[in-house]
Amino acid sequence: MTTTSTNSAAALPVTEPDRNCPLCPRLAEFRASARAKEPSWFNAPVPSFGDANARLLIVGLAPGLQGANRTGRPFTGDYAGDLLYATLIEYGFAKGTYQARPDDGLTLVNCLISNAVRCVPPQNKPLPAEINTCRTYLTATIEAMPRLSAIVALGRIAHDTMLKILNLRSVTAPFAHGAVHQAGRLKLYDSYHCSRYNTNTGVLTPQMFRSVFAKVKAELD
Ligand code: SF4
Repeated sequence: MTTTSTNSAAALPVTEPDRNCPLCPRLAEFRASARAKEPSWFNAPVPSFGDANARLLIVGLAPGLQGANRTGRPFTGDYAGDLLYATLIEYGFAKGTYQARPDDGLTLVNCLISNAVRCVPPQNKPLPAEINTCRTYLTATIEAMPRLSAIVALGRIAHDTMLKILNLRSVTAPFAHGAVHQAGRLKLYDSYHCSRYNTNTGVLTPQMFRSVFAKVKAELD
C-alpha cells in the first residue's frame, strides 16, 4: 500500500499504526500476552492490504486471533477469509490462489482491505472507545485513497464507524444487509460479516455475500 507513516506535523495523515501502538491499553496488553504465548505469530496492528489507488475499500471488524493476528494479512488464515477471497476472485477484485497465508501470491485488483480496529480484541469484541480511537487510522486510510468510490462495510461495527467518517446518521443510513448509502461521491454498501458464525447460522449465505459484490462490480464497471 502506498501510504505515509510519518508523525511529522506537516505530513499527510498516518495510515498505519506503529507495531507497538499504545493507544488502546486493553488491546496493547492482550497483544503483549499473545506475543508471550505465540512468539512466532504476527501479534501487532494488522496493516491494510491492497492498493491505495483502488476504487473499492472493504472494511472489516478487527483481526481474528488465529487469523490475521497470526498471519499479518487481513482475513488471512481463518474461515472469514475463505469466503471473502473466493468472492473477490469471482468478481475480479483479486487474482491468484488464496492459500490462507500471506505469501500465497494473492493480489487484490482495484481493492484495499482494512479493519475498523487494527489490533485483535479479546473475544472479537472491541470496546466503543477502542473503535473510536482506531478510527483515526481508518480515516487516514480513506483520505489516502484518491480514487475511492465504493466502500463495503462487513458488519454493523464497520458500518457504524463508516457512518462517523462519512458524516452520515444511523436514522437515515441504518445498517441492513444489501443496503447502499450515498455519501457525496462515495457509496457505502452494507453486508453481514462473513464470519463462520454468520455463515453457520444461515445469517449470511455465500449467495447473499456474492450479491453485494455483484452490485459493487456493476457500479464500478
Ligand atoms: S486498535 Fe488501533 S488505536 Fe488501538 S492500539 Fe491497536 S492500532 Fe492502536
